[in-house]
Formats: sequence, structure tokens, C-alpha cells
Amino acid sequence: MLPIYMDHHATTPLDKAVLEAMMPYLTSDFGNPSSSTHEYGKTARLAVENAREKVAEMIGAESAEEIIFTSGATEADNLALKGVATSQNENRGHIITIAIEHKAILDTATRLKRSGFDIDYVKVDRFGLIDLNDLEEKIRPDTILISIQAANSEIGTVQPITAIGSIAKKHGIPFHTDAVQALGRVDVHVGKSQIDLLSISGHKMYGPKGVGALYVRKGIRLKPLIDGGGHERGMRSGTLNVPGIVGLGKAAEMAGKDVAEEAKRLLTLRRKLAEGIEKRIDFVTLNGHPTERLPNNLNYSFAFVEGESLILACRQVALSSGSACTSASLQSSYVLKEIGVPDSLAHCSIRFGLGKSNTEEQIDMVVDLLAGNVQKLREMSPLYDMAKEGIDIDKVSWSKHSH
Ligand SMILES: *Cc1c(COP(=O)(O)O)cnc(C)c1O
Repeated sequence: MLPIYMDHHATTPLDKAVLEAMMPYLTSDFGNPSSSTHEYGKTARLAVENAREKVAEMIGAESAEEIIFTSGATEADNLALKGVATSQNENRGHIITIAIEHKAILDTATRLKRSGFDIDYVKVDRFGLIDLNDLEEKIRPDTILISIQAANSEIGTVQPITAIGSIAKKHGIPFHTDAVQALGRVDVHVGKSQIDLLSISGHKMYGPKGVGALYVRKGIRLKPLIDGGGHERGMRSGTLNVPGIVGLGKAAEMAGKDVAEEAKRLLTLRRKLAEGIEKRIDFVTLNGHPTERLPNNLNYSFAFVEGESLILACRQVALSSGSACTSASLQSSYVLKEIGVPDSLAHCSIRFGLGKSNTEEQIDMVVDLLAGNVQKLREMSPLYDMAKEGIDIDKVSWSKHSH
């Protein structure tokens, strides 16, 4: 039997309806949307423009022209930051972000820093929430962009993007948000939140991999990363990924429609999972914000148990410890580190990413599995025995990682 999938922050399965919408464009309707002289090209063009409308609608964009299709959110993040930075008259300027962004933002910012831009990171609290006062204090006359994620992929913390948008607006600075984890789970509206640029990924919302989009508000200056045939109004050259774009459009249509209902269902599952874990297992701590968090996310540290060992023991569930991107290395998650989780507890952390396929029965199974395996693994831990007996383990220095 396949393991229960609870890693929806890493990727989501392709929805059947999305696959169905894509099929014709993988088979009979294979035209190049740039071929305007015949039926094949026109059919493809129509499908792409229809998808563009749906993506625009999902985020409340005024015009479909504000959507640029890309190869995913990594490219969209790169295009937003580098595109705004290099559109400046001089190769200089100040960019504000936070240190718990996805690597697509952090590494892009680091590269820009190397080529002469200044990067500042706004403080986040122990729940991962941005400090709005610090944001305002960090704004400078030469600030060219504020880039703050809508929601975090590890700890699920949802940022106050409407408040950030109004601060950015007040100072006349473009505001970019990486909304990959938020779309389809919480309400995101570029008008209401005064967002100027927004990154989207297909495969995080039941669409296909290798396709995404950047929303760019009319009037925002941007330089393309890729030169060529001038596709996407010159902003992203390259023959369009028609089946992918059609899939993204269908996924956007579904995400936009289902958001409130699906969020409610996910929240019920999340509460059940949290209650089960907290009732059955002692010495657990929640990472991230208790309420300002994605309805499908939980992140717990199970003290005295290695996250990786627990995941191995719970093979019947597909889970992730820390972030999927960094679990190849033995370093503890930079996000947990940034919000002040000690290494000893960061190594014990597990991320739960709920999604459409998860059911109440699965939650029960997962809680049973966790409770059983945590107990088994702790039987080998003398520190757990001490903690249970109330011995102050900090004084005994229970962490073998931090020394
Ligand atoms: C997955 C993810 C990305 C990267 O998206 P791709 O489409 O896989 O390139 C960017 N930002 C966040 C927050 C993500 O979760």
C-alpha cells in the first residue's frame, strides 16, 4: 500500500480535472500559440488566454495582461527581484525581505547583493510573524522593493500582507509576495492587499510541475531575465508550455472556487491532528504561529526523538522533517533556526502538510503511528526518563547536537 501523503507543501498531486483539461493540448491540439496563420495556433492561443483569465481571476487582478507565465515560482521569484532590480537606472538600490523566505527569494537576494544591491531582513518573532514597525524603520529613500512571503512552507505562518501592502503603498515602494503556499488555502487578493507582484506555482495547488506565473501590476517596471522571441509581452521569451499553462488555469479556477470550503475542511483535520498529537504525546512543541497559520500546516518538535528517525519509523506516512529542500544535508532548518528554535529541538521537528486527499481516518492512523513510534524511540533515551521525572535536563545538558 502507498503511504498516506502528508507532504502537500513539497508538492500536490495533479487533480484529475486538471489532467483532463490538459490532455487535448498534449495530443491533438498541439499548436504553437504564436502561429497566428492557422487553426492549430489559434486554438492553442485561445487556450492560453483563457488560462490567463483564470489565473488573473484567482488573485483578483484587474487585467489578464498582468499575468506572465513562467516555468514555476522559482523563476517568478527570480523575475520579480532581478526584474525590478535591473530595471533601475543604476545598478544600485535597497531591497527588503525576511530571512524565512523560500530559497528562491533568499538566494536571488544574495546574488543581487553581490552585484551591488543592499538587502535588509525584517525581524520576525518566535512564531515567524513579521515585525511591522521594523519594516517601516528599514525603509530607505533608495528602497526599490519589499518582498515578503504570504505564507511559510515549513511553519505555515501567514503574514499580514494587507498591512505590509499598505506600508509599501504609503512609501511608494513596489510590494512583491511569494504566495505559493497561500493560494487555494487562504484568501489572496492583489487589489485588497495592494500587491504589485505575486509569484504562483502550479504544482503546489494541484496543477502540473514546471509551470507558474508572476503577476505584475500595470505600471511596474520590470526587465526580463530571458531574451528571445518576445513572448509574454517581452517579459518571458520562449515557446509557451501550453498544456502546463492550461493546467495552471484549471487549477487556479478550482483553487479560487474552493478556497473557503477547503480551508474549513483542512482546519477540521488540522485540529484533529493537533489534538491527537498533544493528547497522546508529551514533550511536544508547536513551531510557528498558533492561529496565524495555514489551515493545512502543522510543525511539531518531538523532544528526545530525531525527526529523521521518526520519519523512518513512520514509513506508512509521507512526511518531511524541516524543509524538503534542506533535508538532504544534515543541517537543521534555517527557518526554525531563524525563529529561535534551538538546534536540539529543530532536529526533532516534523512538518505535516495536509491536502485534498487526507481524511479523518488517516488522521487517526497517523496519530496512532506517531504515538507508538515516539514512545518506542524514547525508550532508548535516558534524557526522556530524566525529563519525565522532572529533572532539569537543561542543567544536565541533554542536547547532544549543540555540543
Ligand atoms: C515550492 C515553492 C517555490 C518554488 O516553486 P517551483 O514552482 O517549484 O519553482 C517558491 N516559493 C515557495 C514558498 C514554495 O513553497
